[in-house]
Amino acid sequence: MNRRVILGLTIGSVIASVLPSAAETFPNRAITLVVPFAAGGSTDLVARLVAASMSTTLGQQVIVENVGGAGGNLGADRVARADPDGYTILMGTVATHALNPLMLKAKPYDPVADFAPISLLVLVPNVLVVNPQLPANNVKDLIQLLKENPGKYSYASSGNGTPLHLSGELFKSMAGVSMEHIPYKGAGPALNDLLGNQVSIMFDNLPSSSSHIKSGTLRALGVTTKDRAPSFPDIPTVDETVPGYETYTWNALFAPAGTPTEIVARLNEAAKTALADPGVISRMKDFSAKIVGSTPDELASHVKAEIQKWEPIVKSTGVTLD
Ligand code: GLU
Repeated sequence: MNRRVILGLTIGSVIASVLPSAAETFPNRAITLVVPFAAGGSTDLVARLVAASMSTTLGQQVIVENVGGAGGNLGADRVARADPDGYTILMGTVATHALNPLMLKAKPYDPVADFAPISLLVLVPNVLVVNPQLPANNVKDLIQLLKENPGKYSYASSGNGTPLHLSGELFKSMAGVSMEHIPYKGAGPALNDLLGNQVSIMFDNLPSSSSHIKSGTLRALGVTTKDRAPSFPDIPTVDETVPGYETYTWNALFAPAGTPTEIVARLNEAAKTALADPGVISRMKDFSAKIVGSTPDELASHVKAEIQKWEPIVKSTGVTLD
């Protein structure tokens, strides 16, 4: 080695030891939070609430970017392939991390191996809503209407392989009825068509339907959780008419696999602070979204448990996706 090389190496290592590492300076620019559904849906709503608080804590903007399509797969895949530096993260759901991978024959990404879990955020009830022009006031009426008019009615969802799609297919198989499935790029555009009566039935996530239920522009027939939703105690559960019926959604933050643990920890802390924010707590209460929060390891276990839980239920509906 000549003297110039030795000198260069020495200066290089001195600079490296003086410069702070990427993890130490994180974040020093805006973070993109990919919402894998269109604007106006529940994932978007939860993401915007959490992003606003995280921006304050982190001192950098957390910018929501909607990448809808393929039941959440497009957005999730985009994050799975992003640089593992913490600047591109995902608002994942039971769709991107359990249902879609269970239904798809060819999986674009691995929900476990391709992500670094950050934090579980909320558990979200789904709700069976109809356009008020539909002649059905409760789940029993709807079952009768569908039985008397086979092939006449369709239901909207936020996309193939989402909990809203599963909610519809599970309802069909457990209640013995038929309805055609119409997938959209998210609950937002699906709701627009439901409000316009282009489609008359939808399983939605409760947060995005809440205001429409309250104003009467949509009629809620049942929530999909085992228990009634605390903020809508008058809406029965679907289970009260179709015993054993249960679906729900959750939202959680994920980074690409390989993201440094210090950066994941920083994002986890910011998520935890967001979940303790009185403004976030009060909005989540309105939606009956249950704040859970978690460590990265707890989210990793949650994803594995959810994949196991839904596997036989997905099989029972017979849904597979190409
Ligand atoms: N149905 C999707 C889910 O719960 C979210 C729909 C949306 O936010 O548009 O995973």
